[in-house]
Amino acid sequence: MSIVTIPSSVPYDSNIFLVEGERPILVDSGTGQDSGTVIRRIHEVCPEGPSMIVATHCHYDHAGGLHDLVEEFGCPVYAGWRDAPVIRHPDRRDVAALFGAAMRPVDAKDLREGDVLDSGSRRFTVLETPGHTEGSICLYDEESGTLISGDTLFLGGYGRTDFMGGSFDSMLASLVRLSKLDIRELFPGHGSTCESYTPGMMAEVLRMAGV
Ligand SMILES: [Zn+2]
Repeated sequence: MSIVTIPSSVPYDSNIFLVEGERPILVDSGTGQDSGTVIRRIHEVCPEGPSMIVATHCHYDHAGGLHDLVEEFGCPVYAGWRDAPVIRHPDRRDVAALFGAAMRPVDAKDLREGDVLDSGSRRFTVLETPGHTEGSICLYDEESGTLISGDTLFLGGYGRTDFMGGSFDSMLASLVRLSKLDIRELFPGHGSTCESYTPGMMAEVLRMAGV
């Protein structure tokens, strides 16, 4: 059982991941500008559809497609409790205007620090990692050392903090916190994934952040 990347044709879509298992978990949705392709590809990997969808944060490029996915799969949507209200009642914090778009509201439920999401193959613990947005979360499976990191941690970098609700100080604290985990596989919100992540890679990101 693994984590499958669902490819999208929209270049600025977030990465979209499907965690396989008896209860598949979809992480992030992309913008929704090409939901037809995304939905078709999810059906190919997972005919029964996901049991839940988790948004790592409220930004349009990660959450704009939630509306179409919920319509198709009828499953619940979750997000960190400080960002879920933006998904329920979109406001400027969703940054959709930067993409010349508007986000359609979705009834997202709140996730909190320590909540556990179990796909049947992996057990992810919710980590609240503010900085990129107030309610950004990461999902961490201690057993496999897998981190799904949204726009907090990238391969070779970290998320910007100059959007509404962002905070560089919070980002630093979140990165320091992540650096104490045993991360062996990284699935970030944009760019490449890494199935052989090392402490040296994390140390380099901390150095870039000035820690
Ligand atoms: Zn973002």
